[in-house]
Amino acid sequence: MDADTPPADILAPDMPAFEPIAPELRPSLRDLPSVDLVLRTPGGQLAVDRFGRLPATLAIRVALDEVRACVLAGQLASLPTPDHVALAAADALEHGARASLRPVFNLTGTVLHTNLGRALLAEEAVEAAVAAMRSAVALEYDLATGRRGERDDHVRELLIDLTGAEDATVVNNNAAAVLLVLNTLGAGREAVVSRGELIEIGGAFRMPDIMARAGVRLVEVGTTNRTHPKDYVGALTEATGLVLKVHTSNYRIEGFTREVRAVELAEIAHARGVPLVNDLGSGTLYDLTRLGLAHEPTVREAVAEGADIVTFSGDKLLGGPQTGFIVGRADLIEAINRNPMKRALRVDKVRLAALEATLRLYRDPERLAARLPTLRLLARGREAIASRAAALAGPVANILGEDFTVDVALCASQIGSGALPLETLPSAGLAIRPAGAASGGLLNALAASLRDIPVPVVGRITEGALLLDLRCLEDEAGFLDSLSQLVLPA
Ligand SMILES: *Cc1c(COP(=O)(O)O)cnc(C)c1O
Repeated sequence: MDADTPPADILAPDMPAFEPIAPELRPSLRDLPSVDLVLRTPGGQLAVDRFGRLPATLAIRVALDEVRACVLAGQLASLPTPDHVALAAADALEHGARASLRPVFNLTGTVLHTNLGRALLAEEAVEAAVAAMRSAVALEYDLATGRRGERDDHVRELLIDLTGAEDATVVNNNAAAVLLVLNTLGAGREAVVSRGELIEIGGAFRMPDIMARAGVRLVEVGTTNRTHPKDYVGALTEATGLVLKVHTSNYRIEGFTREVRAVELAEIAHARGVPLVNDLGSGTLYDLTRLGLAHEPTVREAVAEGADIVTFSGDKLLGGPQTGFIVGRADLIEAINRNPMKRALRVDKVRLAALEATLRLYRDPERLAARLPTLRLLARGREAIASRAAALAGPVANILGEDFTVDVALCASQIGSGALPLETLPSAGLAIRPAGAASGGLLNALAASLRDIPVPVVGRITEGALLLDLRCLEDEAGFLDSLSQLVLPA
């Protein structure tokens, strides 16, 4: 290997094994440039200007250590020049300077992808959040009276208007909302739940565990597939703190089933003077049938059906920042707000600003689907997406070169985050396949390369193809620009 070999190679000691160079033919480590010498090269100076003296020095030291290791392993026939070491160090600094939490193109076909951060915020919400980050805000300060205010007051009226509930409060996420409600209404007492609704949502959120942590004793009624009104009636005692209904958001039990509807359950609970809590999960403030989707219960409906408390998420179908809502009877909300746990679960000014701006958009339902990214993406029809796929197939094929074929493909997106789990949305995208003999290895390597560009592209591998569902692609120019920096797998 001569000194003109690109510097990146010296940072790849785990290259495929080949015959090691005999010890007597190896370059002398005494000729290795010093850290100082590398720092003084033009490349070294540039690294210092960009990243600072200490990081540049450390990166050069690491690069030199790797050269040393390669020489000792018999992998280098000659030493790299000081300039090459500087470039390798700058390369490593550049790579390390990329933010860990950075934007990606979500082409998975799952619109509300929990691992990719769920809902994208509306521009109005982004602006409000940025403004709140930059300056002091009247977070807990009443500008009219000059007295102390409540942080919930910025969204209380909006939530009351949009849900028909008497009162409302906001916490960190819906898991926090459920925990806080259970602890406030049921600590040291019993919560009655149907066996068909003891759900796990993922990420260690299991209803029975949350109950235990909330200090509530779980009383299971009915069976997995059938629960009757008399099951609940028989379980209600002096020790009952609440009846809990959980929207089985991420699965369906079908066939021989019986579920006690919220209206019936409210009557049963109220006859014993016990509150009914309905955890809607996603919940929505918008009738999804307007977008041609199946019906997902709205929060207003859950309130009207007689639930005393309804809990739901801010970053699922609602399309806002991560938050959890608790709406319902004023006396219960007051008790919830007095619980010291509330302070530990509260939201910060940035999210609250984004949330207020998001909820305001709901006052104008006609323009909502255009302004709120979640609904806008869910509303996109297959025809429109397919025509964008057709336009992008050529440019993408050019970038990927001869080793891959790129075809427009019909596919199905899903909402994600447990909303309408059986519902799929007709969609379209690009199916990328190896051009030669089918090789899953090549496809996996391409998927990895796509995750290593400035704005990574995340698709899914299915039926021998890497499928990029284009439902959630709005910035096509940015997509092609990021893709143009792809380093193709060898
Ligand atoms: C998603 C979900 C939760 C948890 O909500 P987060 O906002 O993710 O904390 C709780 N209950 C149900 C039914 C859910 O679908």
